[in-house]
Amino acid sequence: MSKTGCFYCDKDEQLTNLMIEISKLPSSILYLNRDQTHKGRCIIAFHSHKRELFELSEVELTAFMKDVSIAAEAIQRAFKADKINYAIYGDLVSHLHFHLVPKYEGGPEWGEAFVNSPISRLLMKDSDNRERIEGILEQLKIVRGI
Ligand SMILES: [Zn+2]
Repeated sequence: MSKTGCFYCDKDEQLTNLMIEISKLPSSILYLNRDQTHKGRCIIAFHSHKRELFELSEVELTAFMKDVSIAAEAIQRAFKADKINYAIYGDLVSHLHFHLVPKYEGGPEWGEAFVNSPISRLLMKDSDNRERIEGILEQLKIVRGI
């Protein structure tokens, strides 16, 4: 596969240093963010290289938002978050993706915008990442009814 210069498309080391694939969804891929400052933080990336929501057809947009909604519900159920924050930035990595950031009352940045790239990341052991991924997968099945 030739390199595109976009790590979401190339699925290279840059991507795996930042996140771990949880599951493919109909129009996207859901990843666990390696920085778990916010317990259960994920990223959901559109399946192909689009930059803006307005570049999607109505069918694509509806399908992507459905995936975002399903993923957010699974995260909320898995970690009992008090609120899910949704963010699309993409200045430097333009491939369309949402940050799905569970927030907890009294926890980091409650009531504020979350810090996208904190100075110190909360990295976990592989077994702890695996446990969080399993928790999300279990809830995804329930939310999707499969
Ligand atoms: Zn891309």
